[in-house]
Amino acid sequence: MNQIKQLADLRSLTRKDLEAWLASLGLPAYRGRQLFRWLWRPGIDSFGQMTEFSKEARCLLEKHGVINTLKIVRRLVSEDGTKKLVFELDDKHYIESVIIPEKKHVTLCLSSQVGCAMGCAFCRTALMGFVRQLSPSEIVLQALHCIEEAGLDTNVRNIVFMGMGEPLANYDNFIKALRILMDNLGLDFSSRRVTVSTCGIIPQMLKLGEEIDVSLAISLHAPDDETRGKLMPINKKYPVDDLLAACRQYRLAPRRRITFEYILIKGVNDSLSQAKELVRKLHGIKAKVNLIPFNEGPELEFRCPDWQHILLFQKVLLDAGYTTIIRKSKGRDILAACGQLAGKIKGHF
Ligand code: SF4
Repeated sequence: MNQIKQLADLRSLTRKDLEAWLASLGLPAYRGRQLFRWLWRPGIDSFGQMTEFSKEARCLLEKHGVINTLKIVRRLVSEDGTKKLVFELDDKHYIESVIIPEKKHVTLCLSSQVGCAMGCAFCRTALMGFVRQLSPSEIVLQALHCIEEAGLDTNVRNIVFMGMGEPLANYDNFIKALRILMDNLGLDFSSRRVTVSTCGIIPQMLKLGEEIDVSLAISLHAPDDETRGKLMPINKKYPVDDLLAACRQYRLAPRRRITFEYILIKGVNDSLSQAKELVRKLHGIKAKVNLIPFNEGPELEFRCPDWQHILLFQKVLLDAGYTTIIRKSKGRDILAACGQLAGKIKGHF
């Protein structure tokens, strides 16, 4: 047991970290490049498979490092083709990832923490509370296993971090995971295709913009502090106007916009005056809006507005010139849709 603790979790290391680790074992840095490539090939789970390395080098790696994997314990397939994978971690906690088929490609929705401390009122993950941070390897391995599950010929193009957890509350591990996901010798995802969704932890959000180029999505869900404060406790620390001021300041790559996620909940945040307020508040931000009709599910009492009303809400934003998409969540029947992931609550996966 103690011995396992001393082993380096190699899949949690960025390429640069891996080179430094190999140098500490007396191996040349260029070997880090090779090892990194091997670690992120589908189907690799032992040093014995790494034929570029001599037997002596493989023994040395095995003595000091470990190749982490995740165990898939459940697969749930929705009638719309969305697939939810439930992973069991070494310490018997569970996390979930979702494989979402689109017309010509596949999007993965991944988790960043076990549970979540943010307590959003519309979210099943919040009911778990915070359990623990995911390591970089546990974050990236979800993508690797989803790619294997979708089939290696499938065009797995987009990743969204909208699964369990608030990614920016696990900042250090999360940024390493992003670097591995986007490394061309790792999983080689394009920065445009990786979207980080945050409830709005301002300092980490601004830091993210300085450190790495990814797409940013803000879980806004209300244009005023009173409503947002009821839905999202984080609003007390970072109120709407401060959050939007930070969005104006956010370092955005050219031709990129910030996505604002807005779950529409009947009688709570769906009035047309709130739509107009949203238009006023977004002024001056390169923004697009995703409207997400609330996904009703067990344990939560909120309801979804009528379709006609959703269209009226959308029209206010469209008339103001904002690209506004109504995102029909997939996988509702298997609790894989937005806000429905919960590891395990009362027997539900
Ligand atoms: S919506 Fe996101 S930030 Fe809020 S509780 Fe759920 S997982 Fe956490």
